[in-house]
Amino acid sequence: MTAYDLLIKDVRVVRPGTDEVPGADIAITGEKIVAVAPDIGADQAREVVDGAGHLAFPGVVDAHQHWGIYNPLAEDTATESRACAQGGVTTSLTYIRTGQYYLNRGGSYAEVFPEVLAGAAGKSYVDYAFHLAPMQSSHIDEIPDLISEHGVTSFKIFMFYGGHGLHGRSNRQNEFLMIPEGERYDLAHFEFVMRGIQRARERFPELSDAISLSLHCETAEIMTAYTELVERDGKLSGLEAYSASRPPHSEGLAVTIASYLAHETGLPTINLLHLSSAKAMEAAVLMARAFPHVDFRREVTIGHLLADVSTADGIGGKVNPPLRPREDVEALWRHLLDGQVDWVVSDHACCKEATKFGADREDVFEAKSGFGGTEYLLPGLVGEGRARGLSMRRVAELTAWNPARRFGLPTKGDIAPGYDADIALIDPDRSWVVDPADSESTQEYSPFRGLEIGSTVTATFLRGQPVYRDGKVHGLPTGRYLHRPTAR
Ligand SMILES: [Zn+2]
Repeated sequence: MTAYDLLIKDVRVVRPGTDEVPGADIAITGEKIVAVAPDIGADQAREVVDGAGHLAFPGVVDAHQHWGIYNPLAEDTATESRACAQGGVTTSLTYIRTGQYYLNRGGSYAEVFPEVLAGAAGKSYVDYAFHLAPMQSSHIDEIPDLISEHGVTSFKIFMFYGGHGLHGRSNRQNEFLMIPEGERYDLAHFEFVMRGIQRARERFPELSDAISLSLHCETAEIMTAYTELVERDGKLSGLEAYSASRPPHSEGLAVTIASYLAHETGLPTINLLHLSSAKAMEAAVLMARAFPHVDFRREVTIGHLLADVSTADGIGGKVNPPLRPREDVEALWRHLLDGQVDWVVSDHACCKEATKFGADREDVFEAKSGFGGTEYLLPGLVGEGRARGLSMRRVAELTAWNPARRFGLPTKGDIAPGYDADIALIDPDRSWVVDPADSESTQEYSPFRGLEIGSTVTATFLRGQPVYRDGKVHGLPTGRYLHRPTAR
């Protein structure tokens, strides 16, 4: 009699919370892992997959993506979720806001969010959920309904939008953000967003652990002034110029403001997104000491860990906050190895060539911000992490366990009985060189082009079904919207 639907034989199981990587088989029934043990008989399963001694990681929970920012949401969901599957990512948490880009509309989330859900439905190869940004004061009043009706428990503030557009200077914020006449997207709004989220945490105490606020920390006034200085000076170009135009202390300052506001409003669940520099990270660590009652989480992107202003392949590497000089990359790794980083993400934002570059292809200030890279997150972190002494246990924590706990996904993030059978198999000894033509993403270029990645994803399983195998995306798009917190 067959006890299991699927048996993944002969893998080394990487789990959060333990440095042991035991050789074992993983048995799956339906969508769940039901046993992890050595030598489970192949005759007990309907289907057997040979794991070939590869590492089995919990499927990656990529906590920071941007489906639908530059391409229609339905299109990005279909294509960019394939890049997820290719990279061992089984859950995408993706940001949506009202205003220009994304759905290119304003209005209430009561109207916009069902449109978002409809746009993505039935098209994704991986499970997904949305972080939403309250852009206008009426959105703050919608927070309780977003939580209870739609399962959206994480929110975002873009601190620099007050005086800056997505790609550079702008003084037409109401038009860009499509917020009502007379409203301001400024520090006072951020304060009221925090108060609104904290009220919701008090109203739903049983969900409060899963309700949090994420902040993109950069300071518009500093960036505007430095952009002018850099352009007038004219000595720097490309990514080096872009980094200088949004200097690290603009991040550090925004981190301190966000932290004080969290203290003032009593909102303890604060996620500091994509810290890119030594100064940003130092400010974040300092704030955690200054405000020990605030439960800070610190995020770093794989882009900021793998590329610097000179190694990235041209201005395709323009992103906010910018890629930095090598010293900052090394500082991020030191903090990561010291345990001061909570999760690593891709910040995947598929921006095709036609959109990405301006009339002068070499002018970084004309280019759009953001690029894809979810397919490089896990293999890149395993490869570079191993070379730097990062344990595989920490990789599982940084890419799956920690974000799953913070963002209300109790069935995700571990390889153990009862968890969703989301699994990424990795050959830790097979390296390869990034060529964007090999990627499932529709983005034609990559700032990582030519980079050697030290490990290879060989298979990805979503709730017990293979979604990537033998170098190909597999099956139908059966990814599901995760109404959070999801039940065990
Ligand atoms: Zn982002």
